Amino acid sequence: MEEKVKSELKKIFGFSQFRGNQEPIVDNLLSQKNTFVIMPTGAGKSLCYQLPAVVSDGTAIVISPLIALMKNQVDQLNAIGVNAHFLNSTLNKSEATKVKSEVLSKKTKLLYVAPESLTKEENIAFLKSAHLSFVAIDEAHCISEWGHDFRPEYRKIKSIVAQIAPNLPIIALTATATPKVQQDIQRNLHMEEADLFKSSFNRTNLFYEVRPKVKNESKKHLIKFIKSHKGKSGIIYCLSRKKVEEIAQLLQVNQINAAPYHAGLDSAVRIKNQDDFLNEELDVIVATIAFGMGIDKPDVRYVIHYDVPKSLEGYYQETGRAGRDGLEGHCLMFYRYEDIVKLDKFNKDKPVTERENARVLLQEMAAYAETGVCRRKFILNYFGETFEKDCGYCDNCKREREIFEGMSYIQTALEAAMETNERFGIEHLVKVIIGESNEYVTSYKHDQLPVFGKGKVVPEKYWTSIIRQAMIFDFLEKDIESFGVLKLTPRGKAFMEAPYSVNLYKDHEYEAESASDTPDVEISAGIAYDEKLFELLKAERKKVAKSKGLPPYV
Ligand code: ADP
Ligand code: MG
Ligand code: ZN
Repeated sequence: MEEKVKSELKKIFGFSQFRGNQEPIVDNLLSQKNTFVIMPTGAGKSLCYQLPAVVSDGTAIVISPLIALMKNQVDQLNAIGVNAHFLNSTLNKSEATKVKSEVLSKKTKLLYVAPESLTKEENIAFLKSAHLSFVAIDEAHCISEWGHDFRPEYRKIKSIVAQIAPNLPIIALTATATPKVQQDIQRNLHMEEADLFKSSFNRTNLFYEVRPKVKNESKKHLIKFIKSHKGKSGIIYCLSRKKVEEIAQLLQVNQINAAPYHAGLDSAVRIKNQDDFLNEELDVIVATIAFGMGIDKPDVRYVIHYDVPKSLEGYYQETGRAGRDGLEGHCLMFYRYEDIVKLDKFNKDKPVTERENARVLLQEMAAYAETGVCRRKFILNYFGETFEKDCGYCDNCKREREIFEGMSYIQTALEAAMETNERFGIEHLVKVIIGESNEYVTSYKHDQLPVFGKGKVVPEKYWTSIIRQAMIFDFLEKDIESFGVLKLTPRGKAFMEAPYSVNLYKDHEYEAESASDTPDVEISAGIAYDEKLFELLKAERKKVAKSKGLPPYV
């Protein structure tokens, strides 16, 4: 790398050295190569395009999904003397004209553009005539329906960039890295050939803990927990505005210095509460997930989820706001299965595929909460990383766990995958193992397989947990190319050749502990069964499978 680039790092951004992969990323982009960056929240993705933009000729286009974030970044850049602007719907005509003329006069180093503005004809024409250095697509997971922040406009970016300047290098950045989302992003942007820079998602200083949500017990614990962190900063996430208000009040009457934050508050109040939190006037902010995007407070000592989040990606992002300074961060979640059911019900009017995607994410969330496996291992596995040892720094690692000998179970799970030719997902394999016939099982004659009913003495939900553990321990892997069907890994194949003893962990039994308020839905191993939706889904999968010449996976 040229000395100039390094000296600008210090001179403009004030950093004495690069962090993690930043240096090779900057290098790669400056060599005009397409670059794909996967890095956890807070790791420093912005610099990966800001520094190259500053040292390049012309203007870099930065596509970013949130207007508030855009403004925030532009303000920060301007404050350190970098000429940056944004183009989005908050600008009036004359402001937009002014921004454009700055860009055309080649003064602007970074132009932040909302995806909605990028698709406008007049802006396309303008960008065609500008002198551009490269295109950065921040929060690139917005491209994928499989992620948690899908933005349809993001899917148009590639074709518009191709119109504006087909040969410009592209850098795409995201903190969401499930293999499925990653593949989706690369395909959509035609970036299969791009150089990939993926950092580990392990946040070693975060302690993960899940507790059952029991009506009064949890509130008592919450207060006790916060009081034991007196004077420290913490964030508490709730799903609804009402809950935010309720918890904020509960804390206040218990002499805790807390305030609410949600979109229903008057914006002056919201901003004041946020600023007070950032300036240490407030210890605790109780918030909906609207809070925290792009907020960079390094010394948040704990993040508590009073309600279960909608996805493990969301959970990871939100807990990622703790301990950014590298010191302790405690991530506590209160969990009960009814909250998952409730969340699923919110989606009942959504289109079928959307609801099913949301449901898969919810199921992963529930599995995380209920697992007896090391939490870090579970999370990292979800992001496609293998983490071999137990971390020793999560509630599961810290407590006495119920372990059982898993060799024969893993064998059965792998047999089920093999005998069905590695073409089915977890639900189907469980049905085959417990010997339950449904339309698919019989239509494939899977009720005639040796493995059929082999595990019928063990309840269905245990098998779900066992197969998940077979995935976490790298015996099985999801094939993201085809609906997540399960295939044997090399380790799985070796295990079948010569099986050995494996420790498996019993799931938590939260239901027994958490007395439910209103059990209006039957609670079982899976999410409440919805006959109609199931039928629709089956039909849709059949259609997709048929068009690809595949059997309809369950
Ligand atoms: P991300 O987009 O990955 O979530 P940001 O780009 O917002 O993260 O950066 C997070 C924090 O890290 C910011 O406060 C930023 O100033 C800081 N940071 C980035 N790069 C460096 C570096 N090389 N040295 C020190 N701090 C850095
Ligand atoms: Mg960022
Ligand atoms: Zn652990």
